[in-house]
Amino acid sequence: MAVTRTPLIAGNWKMNLDHLQTVALVQKLHWTLRDAGHESDSVEVAVFPPFTDLRTAQTLIDADKIPFALGAQDISTHDSGAYTGEVSGTFLAKLDCRYVIIGHSERREYHAETDEVVAAKVQAAVKHGLVPVVCVGETAEDLEKFGASAVPAGQLEIALAGLPADADVVVAYEPVWAIGSGQAATPAQAQEVCAKLREVVARVVGEEAGVRTRVLYGGSVKSANIASFMREPDVDGALVGGASLVADEFAAIIRYQKHVGV
Ligand code: PEP
Repeated sequence: MAVTRTPLIAGNWKMNLDHLQTVALVQKLHWTLRDAGHESDSVEVAVFPPFTDLRTAQTLIDADKIPFALGAQDISTHDSGAYTGEVSGTFLAKLDCRYVIIGHSERREYHAETDEVVAAKVQAAVKHGLVPVVCVGETAEDLEKFGASAVPAGQLEIALAGLPADADVVVAYEPVWAIGSGQAATPAQAQEVCAKLREVVARVVGEEAGVRTRVLYGGSVKSANIASFMREPDVDGALVGGASLVADEFAAIIRYQKHVGV
């Protein structure tokens, strides 16, 4: 089954930048890519600002016809009701969000999100027509005890259970020890785990989904290492944290196809 997977470079801003700073970053990123002659069809770009910035980003992207997809950093398992502080997929869809990050290790760690909560959020996203970016990854301790792929594969199996065969999902392999540490996984490790995660998608969702689903690597990605990950056959893009907050650096990551040796 031959399928071309459009690479996806996604910027997770985490709890950084207010709505005014959002305008500045989105515009600067857009102008930098445009001035560099970047062909927007070659790589999909998505930005994931905080909830309070989404409306601003949506308006700007729409008004200036900026070729970036918009995503949220979390979603409620509920549609509406007495859930103070939660944000429904209905609202995200109304803001033209295409993606939503689910199961980021920071939510698993600081908000006690279990695999079951992650699975419920994946269902909520799909129900509202959003594409879940399902984050999985092992801690340093897991790596030592179980190797690299066992924990992320187990997390993904639970997250995807019950999805229809035509579900549109993105998987992000993010070793917890690599996030924000400056110490990325090796391209070989990323490839090994991403290939295993693709097998999980094929087994749980369906063979065709395994072929078309994009599997990203995340964890200390920067312009100096992105090309080495993107050379791997099962790595279809990157989820980028810190480096996505700097327009020139994120633009250089997006333009990895122009790096020497790619
Ligand atoms: C992340 O938090 O998703 C991430 C990959 O962060 P960083 O790129 O800063 O390691």
